[in-house]
Amino acid sequence: MKCPLCGNIFQEADAEASCQGCPMAGGCHMVKCPNCGYDVVKEPKLIKALKAWRRKGNGN
Ligand SMILES: [Zn+2]
Repeated sequence: MKCPLCGNIFQEADAEASCQGCPMAGGCHMVKCPNCGYDVVKEPKLIKALKAWRRKGNGN
């Protein structure tokens, strides 16, 4: 994903690691940009599924 604040591109998993210690760890819908610490809203699963589906379609 891309941070809207600083433009840093990072893996969601990396950002989730930075959320450990947060009382909502794993339960919140935000990830923290590893570069600037900005809270970015995670992409909803539905959007991810759609993107994956479209990628698959383009492959054919
Ligand atoms: Zn950032």
